Amino acid sequence: MTKQTPAEPIRIATNGADAPAGSPLTEPFTLTVDDVLISLGASRTGLSESEAIDRLQRHGPNRLPSSARRNPFLRFLAHFNNVLIYVLLAAAITTASLQHYIDTSVILAVVIANAIIGYIQEDRAEKAMDAIRDMLAPQTTVLRDGERRAIDTADVVPGDLVLLEPGERAPADLRLIEATGLFIDEAILTGESVPVEKSVDALARATPIGDRTCMAYSGTLVTNGTGRGVVVATAENTEIGRIGGLISRVQTLTTPLVAQMDVLARWLTILILLIASVLLAYGYFVGQLPFDEIFMNVVGLSVAAIPEGLPAVMTIALSVGVRAMARRNAIIRHLPAIETLGSVSVICTDKTGTLTRNEMMVVTALTQAGLFAIEGHGYDPTGAIHPSPASNTLAELGRAAALCNDAALRLSGSTWQSIGDPMEGALLAFSAKTEVDISGWSRRDEIPFDAVHRYMAVLVEAPDGRHSIMVKGAPERVLAMCKTQRGDGADVPLDQDYWQGEAHLIASKGQRVLAFAMRDATVDGFGSDQPDGEFTLIGLVGMIDPPRPEAIGAIEECHAAGITVKMITGDHAGTASAIGQQIGLRNPTSVLTGADLDARSDADLAQAVLDTNIFARTSPENKLRLVTVLQAHGLTVAMTGDGVNDAPALKRADVGIAMGVKGSDAAKETAVLVLADDNFASIAAAVSEGRTVYDNLRKTIGFELPTSFGEAGAITIALILGLALPVSPLQVLWINLITGITLGLALAFEPTEPGTMQRPPRARETPLLDATLGWHIVLVSVLFVLAVFGIGAYATAKGYPHALSQTLAMNLLVVLEIFHLFFIRNIFGTSLTWASAKGTRVIWTCLALIVPAQFIVTYWSAAQQVFGTRAVSVVDGSVIIAIGVAFFAILEAEKQIRLSLSSRAGPVHE
Ligand code: ATP
Repeated sequence: MTKQTPAEPIRIATNGADAPAGSPLTEPFTLTVDDVLISLGASRTGLSESEAIDRLQRHGPNRLPSSARRNPFLRFLAHFNNVLIYVLLAAAITTASLQHYIDTSVILAVVIANAIIGYIQEDRAEKAMDAIRDMLAPQTTVLRDGERRAIDTADVVPGDLVLLEPGERAPADLRLIEATGLFIDEAILTGESVPVEKSVDALARATPIGDRTCMAYSGTLVTNGTGRGVVVATAENTEIGRIGGLISRVQTLTTPLVAQMDVLARWLTILILLIASVLLAYGYFVGQLPFDEIFMNVVGLSVAAIPEGLPAVMTIALSVGVRAMARRNAIIRHLPAIETLGSVSVICTDKTGTLTRNEMMVVTALTQAGLFAIEGHGYDPTGAIHPSPASNTLAELGRAAALCNDAALRLSGSTWQSIGDPMEGALLAFSAKTEVDISGWSRRDEIPFDAVHRYMAVLVEAPDGRHSIMVKGAPERVLAMCKTQRGDGADVPLDQDYWQGEAHLIASKGQRVLAFAMRDATVDGFGSDQPDGEFTLIGLVGMIDPPRPEAIGAIEECHAAGITVKMITGDHAGTASAIGQQIGLRNPTSVLTGADLDARSDADLAQAVLDTNIFARTSPENKLRLVTVLQAHGLTVAMTGDGVNDAPALKRADVGIAMGVKGSDAAKETAVLVLADDNFASIAAAVSEGRTVYDNLRKTIGFELPTSFGEAGAITIALILGLALPVSPLQVLWINLITGITLGLALAFEPTEPGTMQRPPRARETPLLDATLGWHIVLVSVLFVLAVFGIGAYATAKGYPHALSQTLAMNLLVVLEIFHLFFIRNIFGTSLTWASAKGTRVIWTCLALIVPAQFIVTYWSAAQQVFGTRAVSVVDGSVIIAIGVAFFAILEAEKQIRLSLSSRAGPVHE
């Protein structure tokens, strides 16, 4: 763990005497650290903010040019590239050749309207995806004006001093100036997946890119250790930029279910074409009908039956879902996750920052002199200590807290903020309250914190030149390194049991406990030394991190939704249990630690994972094992993570969730969902939206298919029985045109149904088109056919001309579709509520288009000529509405009976 020192220069290469400071350097790996800094006009304390702004203007943002979007016209044309549309186009060409120009134009209108909707929607979806990508814009920690700052990676400029930590990707090409146990995975650049150890030594000019150990190239991933590097090239001047940029991750707007429906729609098309050809042959050869007439009938049938709008509407439902989730801070990185989210049955979540606020404050300190209560607000470095600290050991604790620390406190307006780890910010505030003086102390080396070892150590030099090592970390880790404890005068042997007991006591109040220890050192660096058993314990601190109030509500919501919430934390068992209690986890007193997990066989663990909801002091390997064991029970597991080592568990989980704020790049890249605000409540929101999207997909299918089948069924029966057609082919085309582009679309925008989060999760393997939905499709199709023939019989009984009979049937079909739409909005509850009757804005916009259009087609003489319609009397109009009401009543009664039967039989797994 030795800090690398610069070697002798091998060759000094500059960009030429007149190169402006901050221009990308050629071959910076051949320069010593000092020469690189000089050439770039940079320093070890970073650029000044004004210089950085100036350089940003000169060099432009550190972003690779995004690949150009396809020509809009070509994108529009792509919407015609679909088997369903080919059939419609073929029908248009044939009708035109038969000189049925009106039919041709209506078919073309259907096709073009579909393409326009598809195009607009795709455009909106792409924009939404772009916006989401911006929400995920990576951040980089740099030093500016000597202070740590988290900035957008796009704002990084040549000369910036970047701080590297495990899990982060290098934001630009960096010449390393410090490397502490730093390993970088350069697979993205060299294909070599074994991480390379880095140093700061200058190298020979001929060194190939994979061996340039003093460089961290843009896009490569830090797997271990920490480092600092000065930016030598940004954007397209980086190595990755030069080789054509990162393979841009293209998000295709499809999921397994949509793909399934796409296939189903194609098979349906083929089936419909087969039936149509049989009917054509039958009508022509057996029925002896003129070809022209029978052909038009068959065209009407095919257009009616082909669910041309279905794939588009399903895609729209998904993209509406993606946007709804993004509004609720849950960013979908991988579209199929939307479907999986709806079936999540267990959520395994971190504690710190997800269930708690990650706003820490030290409230307790314990040294041999006793227990101290620390007062104050947030990160404000002022506050009283009770009893008043006359203790040297408390001052020593305060010093260690400040020196073994990478954070900084900054006053922003009137509030103090922590720059860096909130826990370390809290330690700085605590240190300031002890009024200890740390001026003149300097850090010589460090062992950075990592979640596996759970401690951090620094080697510091006191103003008098003496060296010492200070360590802070999880009490059991630090206590294990200690032999003695700081006494009033001399050090005394360590009382392990006492400190362990006290640590547990503080933790049981929900406080996070850290222990501090130190020992003298003789060397200037850690070398290969690991902190050993020779340390002296200074004391403990306890800090609060209040639970997020919204997380409490979200956990309750999850429980109501049949989802178990489990906390998997790196923290102490006592702290985890106390927080679990505060936020309402079930069975919070039973806790398993990482060590307990390691000690159990898979068989033992199988039952324990179901009974236990809190897992403390866990390692990333424990997380992976927990996911696997839970999945073995058939559960759909969502798992959160933030560190580089969490990636395997995130990948294994059904829904891997990364933290947007404190998560590492590696975790975000593996996760399918990223939380913009790290908040547990956003997971619950995402599950609710996931369920909504799934429901809307089902509703769309449940609406579109019976519409197609009902219309097509009526025509087919008439053709087979040799009856006059109940609706003319042109009228069928018309119905398809207006309802296809309005009503069907409305379902994609349906809001969450009440009670969505009171249902148990759907089983993963449930097919989208299950028995319930299949039955609904059959029932509605049959009701459509009966209604159409029923109104035909009514018209015949009244002695109406055939044209009026067809007009009544056409209007009836539209009315039935409207009633069906209002019905299908509530598949899990009653549709007879004011909220369902009120509908949504999208629905009323559709109705505002359809109703006048129907009036025009029915009553306007010019339209009557074209569509062969007749004016409908008020009485007949009322009969149509009455049939619509009866249709709605039948469907609602059937649903209520079905729901009450299934609720008596047990929970519905819709
Ligand atoms: P969660 O997994 O719920 O986010 P966590 O933040 O407590 O919990 P880790 O970050 O893995 O999980 O920390 C585990 C333990 O390591 C902490 O409880 C603490 O004792 C110790 N620890 C955390 N951060 C540091 C640090 N910067 N320096 C020293 N020790 C630390």
